[in-house]
This record gives sequence, structure tokens and C-alpha cells, in this order.
Amino acid sequence: MLADSDRIFTNLYGERDWGIEGAMARGDWRDTADLLALGPDRLIDIVKASGLRGRGGAGFPTGVKWGFMPKEPRPDRPSYLVINADESEPGTCKDREIIRHDPHKLLEGALLAGYAMRARACYIYIRGEFVREAERLEAAVRQAYDRGFLGAKACGTGYAYDVFVHRGAGAYICGEETALIESLEGKKGQPRLKPPFPAGVGLYGCPTTVNNVESIAVIPTIVRRGAEWFAGIGRPNNTGTKLFCISGHVERPCTVEEAMGISFRELVETHCGGIRGGWDNLLAVIPGGSSVPLVPAHEIIDAPMDFDGLRELKSGLGTAAVIVMDRSTDIVKAIARISYFYKHESCGQCTPCREGTGWMWRVMNRLVTGDAEPHEIDLLLDVAGQVEGHTICALGDAAAWPIQGLIRHFRPEIEARIARRRGFVQVPDTVPPLAAAAE
Ligand code: SF4
Repeated sequence: MLADSDRIFTNLYGERDWGIEGAMARGDWRDTADLLALGPDRLIDIVKASGLRGRGGAGFPTGVKWGFMPKEPRPDRPSYLVINADESEPGTCKDREIIRHDPHKLLEGALLAGYAMRARACYIYIRGEFVREAERLEAAVRQAYDRGFLGAKACGTGYAYDVFVHRGAGAYICGEETALIESLEGKKGQPRLKPPFPAGVGLYGCPTTVNNVESIAVIPTIVRRGAEWFAGIGRPNNTGTKLFCISGHVERPCTVEEAMGISFRELVETHCGGIRGGWDNLLAVIPGGSSVPLVPAHEIIDAPMDFDGLRELKSGLGTAAVIVMDRSTDIVKAIARISYFYKHESCGQCTPCREGTGWMWRVMNRLVTGDAEPHEIDLLLDVAGQVEGHTICALGDAAAWPIQGLIRHFRPEIEARIARRRGFVQVPDTVPPLAAAAE
């Protein structure tokens, strides 16, 4: 379990003052000018050495990503930092907590990250539905300007750095970095073909790095406490602390900061009061937001909750939105509902996603009631495989993976529904108790 002294987000639950006085009392903005004096290259080296991997879902090493930005930006092509606060992945509720209760960690991180990448300005793209959060963020930005921490001479240095808050309009796809950039430019939020990547051609055609809120908000603490401290938490290649959002059938759903690599059992027992109805009542878990494949109970219970640990289970850490489902869940219906979400949020730009998400959703609906032919299970799997990896952005993958996970682990349940519908009523309950499944 993470020691309290190692927690980065010390006001995660809003028990203290979110404003600049409270933030400074907790150590934010304390010696920022000294941190800037380390210089851009040293800052990037520290972030690389910390092992921090992006907290938005992909898990790409943050320091490496920063290193793609030009070392000497041209005057006519300034560099930009864009912070992705479009948090829309179902099950995810962490970035909004940072913005509500610890916005100055994000702003101080934005300054340090921007300086490390020699950026001229930062744009924080916040999800349209986050009305109160956007108001709070704007208020925090004003406070930071009033204190001289941002602006023409940020923190009393010669570095000119502005931060702008931009509100989205509620489209899930605008959380994809190039769609986000398009939306920031005032266009329809549709993902761009890559390459070129944003570090070469991003916002307004200039070098741009897009980072998640949590990735940026942890930067000041990493720089202050040192890369070794952060790298010493968690497991190799999966370092540091992480905000987990645990929802669903646990006794006390919550968002909590924990060490990467904590086991699912410890995470739920320590912070959520256990599984509703006990551990034998656990059916499956979606460990990283709705886009990653589910993991059945017996596989996840003692699994390490980090990038590599969950990849070994053919799933992923994603945004660490842990959706817990007990045995009262209609698992086929749950995945069908996720299919509807991705059908609804497809931007329609490329055919496998535009056509495939709707097609998969319609078949999923028939699997819920059993109104399908047995061979359609393999057909669905085949189509999901044709959508996966054949689209402009990862939404196609996100639509395919939950279905693939369902069929991988709950095929007998789907087959039983079809058999029952076709009149073979003697089909037994196909979801075995946890103990039997583990054998
Ligand atoms: Fe749009 Fe879907 Fe293609 Fe992404 S995969 S660009 S959401 S149609």
C-alpha cells in the first residue's frame, strides 16, 4: 500500500483549500523558479529517468515524448503544449478530481512541461460537460497570473508562457489527440491521419505535444522529489503512483492514488471495502476503462494493476478506470451497451469504424437475447478483427476489444443463450463459481 508520505495528490478529496493559498501551503509553486533553472534538457532527463508513462491510456514514456519536440523552435513556428482534459472514457473519473481539488498542481506542471519543451503556450482542452471544473480551472489560472507565476515573466524568470483554457463540446472522439487539435483549431473534431505526428505538425501546423492531465500534474513532485523516488515506487517499467477509479459492484466505489503494480485484491480490499457479496460473487473486471477487454474473476484477483501486468492478461491498464462486475451482471448486455457507446461516438470518417461499430452493436444485441445463429459468434469475432488496427484512430480498436474479450472468456454463456432461444432448454448455468473456474 502506498505510504501517505508518497502521495502526490494531497487534496484529492477536496478537504482543503483548492486555491493558490492552500496549494502553496501544500508545497505547490514553492521553488518553481529554481526548478526552471535546471533547464529544459535536465527537466526532460528527470522525467525520462522517473519512468513516467502517459496516464491517458496509451502508456507511452512521457519524457521520450517530450524529447521529440524541437530543441530550437523557429520564431514563426512556436511549440505548444496541449493538455488533454477531455476525460470521457466510461468509468474514468480522475482528471476531474485533480481539476476540482488540486488545479495548481496541473498549472505548475504545465509550466514546467512547457518550459522543458520550449513551448510558447499551453492550451488545456477541457470536456464540455465539466462546467464547474472549467470555472475552477479558469479561476486557478487567474490566481497564477495574479501572482506572476504565469505570463510574460513566469515565476520572475525571463520565460514568457501563457495558459489558455478551452472548452470542448462533449464529443468522446475529441479525446483523441489529433481530433482534439482539430477541435482546438475550430474545426470538426475528427482524427488526423498520422504521420505527420503532432510533434512535427500539430496545433496550427506547429510542433505540439498532447499530454493527459494526470501526466502533467505529477511533474512538479517528480522534479522536486527526484526521479529515483518516483522510479522506486511500483515495478520496473511500471513506476510511480497512479490514480485508480474503482466503480461498479464494490462496497465503496472511489478514486484513489496507489502504487502502480498493486494487486487487484489489495486495491479493492484496502480502499473499496471488498466486492459486493464477497469475493466469490465477483464475475469479471474491466480494468482500464470501457475500451479494454474484460478479465474474468479468477485471472484478475491477484494480478498486478499496471501496464505490463494487465497486458499479460490480454487487457490493459488504460486510464485505470476499474469497472467491477459481480455475478448479478448480464455480461453480454454490459458489453452490448459498450458497443452502442462506440457506435454512437464514431466520427464516421473511416469505413471499418463507421460501418463496423454499428454492425457489431446490432449483432451484440441479438446475442443478448440469443436471437442469433451459432456461427455468428465467429463471424462477429472475424469482423471485430477486421475493424481492429484498420482505422485512422484507436476508436476502432476500442470498439473491437471489449467484444473480443467477451467471446474469449464468456463464449459458453453466449452459446447457451442461443441454445435456449432455439428451444434446447436443458442448458445449464455456464458461469461457474469462482473457485471452480480457478481450478
Ligand atoms: Fe473516426 Fe472511427 Fe475512424 Fe477514429 S476510427 S477516425 S472515430 S471513423
